[in-house]
Amino acid sequence: ITGCGQTDDKQSEGTSATNDNNGDKKQDGTVDIGIVLPTKEEPRWVQDEARFKAALDGTDKSVEILFSQGDSAREKQNVETLISKGIKVLIITPHDGAAAAAAVEAAKEEGITVISYDRLVTNTDAVDYYVTFNSVSVGGAQGQYLVEQASGTGEKLYLYAGAATDNNAFLFFEGAWNALQPKIADGTFVVQNSSKAVEYKDKATLTREEMGAIIEQITTDWKPEVAKSKAESHITAAPPEGKTFILAPNDGTSRAIYDQFAKEDGVEIYITGQDAEIPSIQYVIDGKQSMTVLKDVRSLVAGAIETATSVLDGKTIETNGSYDNGKVDVKAKDIKVITVTGDNVKDTIIESGYYNASEFKGL
Ligand code: BGC
Repeated sequence: ITGCGQTDDKQSEGTSATNDNNGDKKQDGTVDIGIVLPTKEEPRWVQDEARFKAALDGTDKSVEILFSQGDSAREKQNVETLISKGIKVLIITPHDGAAAAAAVEAAKEEGITVISYDRLVTNTDAVDYYVTFNSVSVGGAQGQYLVEQASGTGEKLYLYAGAATDNNAFLFFEGAWNALQPKIADGTFVVQNSSKAVEYKDKATLTREEMGAIIEQITTDWKPEVAKSKAESHITAAPPEGKTFILAPNDGTSRAIYDQFAKEDGVEIYITGQDAEIPSIQYVIDGKQSMTVLKDVRSLVAGAIETATSVLDGKTIETNGSYDNGKVDVKAKDIKVITVTGDNVKDTIIESGYYNASEFKGL
């Protein structure tokens, strides 16, 4: 019998310094599916781990989950560890999309099927499938939300982005730009903190290089502390007043940015996020963070497991999209997202069974 259905919770409480062995190993010590996640420092990925464990409970596949702690060298080591345990499928969310190419190429050489999970590994032909939320629509939902709250002209808009090493940061920004740009061009919004965004304000479509130039100015590197210090300097350079619109790329950075802007007198903040992290759902309930994007991790995990088990069982793999990773078009399972605001938080988050009401105050 193959051990599976991980229930050993102490594993998920591991510190950032150790790899967690969530291994449900077979008696011969081999593992069917290896999963490599980027960091335990963000609730987002800890949740993915928990949802993987819950979903794999009761299947006959053996699985091991390792965390890379924001370090590409560690990530490569994790992949090598899993290769040595005989995995047949690798599910990986790269810390740095380009740097991870070497790791997945090593797996590919051993005949392992590689599934990019949520973030795309770039510039390599060693990725077989990509299971992802539709990241352009995540950014689109963020941009659209801000557009819907704006009226008049000259509204102050502050832009923030994810890490430039993450392909998703470009997809999110692209989606947001599609929604925001017409309203920047017509003067509804005035960008306060990116000279490049101002320079390109009349361009409906940006090249990757142009997006890169903007992202470089406004990147948070996905780190709340970077977001906080950038917000502090933007507030000093271009003080907010009255209605203040902020494109924040995800929940962790959104809370950090919100906390800085909220210190200013007389500001009315409209700020985005994504991931529906528990602390951000509380911020939404409290009227602090204006919206988040629910990326139902249960669906992503289900998509990844379905793909992995189809590979293991020799079945056909269903896909519904494809993404250019700079080298090849990777066949993708593309999953929809939902905008969450104070108005629909109960339905989308509680009634849907995503989180328990007991996690929150003031619902
Ligand atoms: C993910 C987001 C996450 C961000 C930071 C992105 O690639 O899609 O859900 O918030 O990375 O970890």
